[in-house]
Amino acid sequence: MEHSNLTRTKSLIDKYGRRIDYLRVSVTDRCNLRCQYCIPKDGIELTTHEEILSFNEIYRICSLMGSMGIHKIKLTGGEPLARKNLNQLVKQLKSIPEIDQITLTTNGVLLEEQVEGLVEAGIDAITVSMDTLDSNLYAQITRRDEFTKAMNGLKAAYKYVPNIAVKINCVPMGLEGQNLVEMAAIARDYNIHVRYIEMMPIGLGKQFTMCSEEDVLKELEAVYGKASLYNGKLGNGPCHYYTFKGFKGKIGFISAVSHKFCSECNRVRLTSQGFLKTCLQYDIGSDLRGLIRSGCSDEKLLEVISKTIDAKPDGHRFLKEEITSENHLGMSQIGG
Ligand code: SAM
Repeated sequence: MEHSNLTRTKSLIDKYGRRIDYLRVSVTDRCNLRCQYCIPKDGIELTTHEEILSFNEIYRICSLMGSMGIHKIKLTGGEPLARKNLNQLVKQLKSIPEIDQITLTTNGVLLEEQVEGLVEAGIDAITVSMDTLDSNLYAQITRRDEFTKAMNGLKAAYKYVPNIAVKINCVPMGLEGQNLVEMAAIARDYNIHVRYIEMMPIGLGKQFTMCSEEDVLKELEAVYGKASLYNGKLGNGPCHYYTFKGFKGKIGFISAVSHKFCSECNRVRLTSQGFLKTCLQYDIGSDLRGLIRSGCSDEKLLEVISKTIDAKPDGHRFLKEEITSENHLGMSQIGG
């Protein structure tokens, strides 16, 4: 592919001075779970194979964005492992010289059978989303009886630590029996970071009450003792970490509601249908699929991407009194 040297820049800085170097790519909106806060019981209206970007289209966009200053890519979904041959996409994206890291977030259900191929393809880190270690509650939250498969996926990925990093994402829901303390014990006993994500009022998430970082930390400190804020850099995003005495892994918090981090936001998102979305909350962005399929040149695409990123909003407005416009996509379509 030919790039225009005129439009190629090493870093992407938006109009608020934020360096945008991280792209979340949703490869499908299909998911094999039905988490209550993410997907309706009967699923969502699914897109056809033709409607979603092909691997070559994703590669083209990532390659152009790499030349502009994107250096890290997260593959997400829906459930990314539900997309056939995902390891081939990982291999393709790893061949882009400017991309330093390809990571994956998955519910883990299909991970055991795919992890070897992903590691061979060069995946750098895997996050498994798991909200509880209680199999009955897991089935209630996800509306699917897949706890054992998800756990086996996590265990299979752990075999590759420390060559690849493995993390857990857990969304505290305030449910009796969710047992956030037990979840943290994974970080105590294994080299796995456990991260608690505050429930965001996006899509079905609006129907749930958010448990704040402060509350969760208090619950953990009551059992594991005082936490110390970890000052080193871990990961590519807004997660901040704590260490607990005797723990092998760290405890992280992604607190988009109680500790808004939009001023440091480094990311944009590409939906499975090729919409470049610049903020989790708003529908603002550009239809790159339409451009690509109309035969648009790389120069034009670079220009559109650049203008889209420049128009990235200064931040979300999650508080009810602040909400001015509604996002019509749910989390499973955006990719988290
Ligand atoms: N299926 C993959 C997975 O489970 O990681 C990728 C997609 S999923 C949408 C990505 C992450 O978003 C998951 O960790 C999920 O728990 C989280 N998530 C979904 N809805 C959320 C919400 N309203 N607030 C916070 N996190 C949410």
